[in-house]
Amino acid sequence: MISLSLNGTPSETRQVLCLGCHSDDIEIGCGGTILRLAMEHPDWVFHWVVFSAIGPRAAEARKAAARFLDPSRLRGPVLHSFQDGFMPFVGAEIKAAFEALKKTVSPDLIFTHNRNDAHQDHRLIAELTWNTLDLAVCHQRPNTRAICRAVNLYRSNTSHGCDCTGGGRE
Ligand SMILES: [Zn+2]
Repeated sequence: MISLSLNGTPSETRQVLCLGCHSDDIEIGCGGTILRLAMEHPDWVFHWVVFSAIGPRAAEARKAAARFLDPSRLRGPVLHSFQDGFMPFVGAEIKAAFEALKKTVSPDLIFTHNRNDAHQDHRLIAELTWNTLDLAVCHQRPNTRAICRAVNLYRSNTSHGCDCTGGGRE
């Protein structure tokens, strides 16, 4: 059993795995929590994986990850090029990506999509997270009409130390 303090209490180094379908999902879904955990736990390491980061979206994903975390604490970003909106139709390939990921990181905490998300890509990544890995916390984009039947954790992020005035996407 992992004892996870979310109140800023120092603890041993933890590996945090952040999973997003698209290049802005991690930032929108759980960016505040990542920033706060990074601030409270300066020794924690964050693995950043995006499953659909093609063309300009790849550059966007790299830039965002670098803005969130110091390079010494950022592993990745690992960027895949699965087509946006079509992930359920290449599920075997994405499952293979999860199996490969499992061999490279042993996360203490995982941020992934909600299994009840209305977006088919998000649901697939959530299912494969639970199928392949262990302890996960679901993040949720506010604009994907999810039906949240079960939420693992709500976290208040009233002070995260981020300049959130940078450009975003609609
Ligand atoms: Zn998305």
